[in-house]
Amino acid sequence: MEKEENNYMELENSFYHELHKYSWDEEESSIFAKTQQDVKRALAKERIDIEDFKALISPAAEPYLDLMAIKANRLTKRRFGKTIQMYVPLYVSNYCTNYCVYCGFNCHNQILRKKLTPEQVLEEIEVLKKWGFRHLLLVSGEAEKLTNATYYEEIIRTVRPHFAQISLEVQPLDIEEYKRVGDAGVSAVYVYQETYNENTYPGFHPKGKKHNFRYRLETPDRCAIAGITKVGIGALLGLQNWRTDSLFTARHLLYLEKTYWQTRYSISLPRLRPHVGSFMPHDPINDHQMVQLIMAFRLLDPEVEISLSTRESSLFRDMAMRIGVTTMSAASSTEPGGYATHNEELEQFSINDGRSVEEVTAAIKSCGYQPVWKDWDSWLQK
Ligand code: SF4
Repeated sequence: MEKEENNYMELENSFYHELHKYSWDEEESSIFAKTQQDVKRALAKERIDIEDFKALISPAAEPYLDLMAIKANRLTKRRFGKTIQMYVPLYVSNYCTNYCVYCGFNCHNQILRKKLTPEQVLEEIEVLKKWGFRHLLLVSGEAEKLTNATYYEEIIRTVRPHFAQISLEVQPLDIEEYKRVGDAGVSAVYVYQETYNENTYPGFHPKGKKHNFRYRLETPDRCAIAGITKVGIGALLGLQNWRTDSLFTARHLLYLEKTYWQTRYSISLPRLRPHVGSFMPHDPINDHQMVQLIMAFRLLDPEVEISLSTRESSLFRDMAMRIGVTTMSAASSTEPGGYATHNEELEQFSINDGRSVEEVTAAIKSCGYQPVWKDWDSWLQK
């Protein structure tokens, strides 16, 4: 490992080096060059490779969605059964020193800021426990002076007796810090690259530690090296060409699986939607294309978890569980303290699926699936 001038730890071997083997423009052209013959060839295979994945996310695959759905449904049921793992996000702070141009929490937005104390976190989880959740995802803005590894350790130890699984979606940490939060009780870390386009990334993240593309990109490597059991990756679909970013996400997944085979992986597919008066996606992905993408990931990797949050509508989420999604949140609040007391001025983004926990679980059951609250007890692995 080597230290950069800015004191961020850089890894000698990481996906950053792998990424540099590929040109963004050439990869994009190769997706759009795929033909229906390529798609048919991919669909005839039992196990597809990255060239087949390109074909399945290309425009040429659009007439083949029905066939993809049959295969994706079969593969998902074979590995996961007819189950949906349930989790709930708990936003512990909306302080942030980054300036992501697409996010309502960014440091230039004059919004109410709040960081929860351990006592306030306990008030929040009283509500979540009553709703039946056993898997908690702790989420925070990125303000490392206020919300650092020491703060997360304290919060994790506070919630640990109450949940079977605790995951983290906060700023990238160093290897030693991941070991500390892992020892405190975290089993999974989610960190999204937003875009794999190194040239345009700084324009979307002009300020703060997140400006450093490489440090963020190497985060899943650091998590795996630190022994975190599961790592979640993904791109913010719509920032750049969604097909190209998804191809790099797939390459990232395959690299991680090959390099750190003991670690489990999860893919998330958050998408930017066009909204008047807010950040406009460069390349919005529509519902049909989202379906195509979920199925392509399932065909590429029958083992990977695919997670879909309440950013998506109830209609879309009910359909998505049949084609490859395995993990869902319900009744989410993106506001620190929002479960015990609601204050919409603190919200990061408004959710699309506003159903209650009962309504979501009833919908899952009516589709013939079983909601799973506690998949496994992470403490057994410690
Ligand atoms: S996306 Fe995350 S890091 Fe960026 S401004 Fe929003 S909360 Fe901060």
